Amino acid sequence: MGIKDNIKFVKEKIDTICKKCGRDPKSVTLMAVTKTVDPIYINEAIEAGISVIGENRVQEARKKFDKVKSGVAWHMIGPLQINKVKYAVHLFDMIQSVESIKLADEIEKRAKTIPKIMDVLVEVKISFEETKHGVSPEDLIPFLKNLSSYRYLKVRGLMTMAPFFDDPEKARPYFRETKVLFDKIRQLHLPNIDMKILSMGMSGDFEVAIEEGSTLVRLGRAIFRDVYKTK
Ligand SMILES: *Cc1c(COP(=O)(O)O)cnc(C)c1O
Repeated sequence: MGIKDNIKFVKEKIDTICKKCGRDPKSVTLMAVTKTVDPIYINEAIEAGISVIGENRVQEARKKFDKVKSGVAWHMIGPLQINKVKYAVHLFDMIQSVESIKLADEIEKRAKTIPKIMDVLVEVKISFEETKHGVSPEDLIPFLKNLSSYRYLKVRGLMTMAPFFDDPEKARPYFRETKVLFDKIRQLHLPNIDMKILSMGMSGDFEVAIEEGSTLVRLGRAIFRDVYKTK
């Protein structure tokens, strides 16, 4: 199967799951994760209807930017180094990986010089795995309260990654816990903090993530298969 067929297949799956759990399929955004993928294939995905792409390295995204069709939203989904923020705020429409005040401060500072409102998600470290990034659930509300006073950085929601399991059912409690936090924060009505986007679910677990309330799924393998290398 080619990229177009993969996208069609994934979209049908999203529709089916949404129907099953009584959600509007339009409430779930399909992001194509394009890290390691050549712009030729990224453009093929865009032609097949993809409107949001995710990259995890600033340098790689900068190199590809001019070769990728315009009109698509670029999201940063990987750990962001402080010294790369100055490029990231120009390049990306959203930074999904905000996880420290130091990083938020730098985004605020750099966005102000453009000036530009920089939409971000706060990454939540929902599992105890050492390799995962993000703000821990206990620290999340105080962290968001700190971001309330920013003028150029605007929080639009949360992002998380469940641990990898062979059986996606095992990821469910992690998604559920993140959704509980998401709803709780929304009810606090903190200034400058929108809870509109809940970015969770990857190729191996997106069905479960949608059932648990995800509004944005990030798929690499399921869309690009053999032209996609996991780093
Ligand atoms: C690579 C990556 C994905 C996509 O993973 P697949 O399993 O290939 O769908 C999603 N989110 C983040 C943060 C990633 O780094």
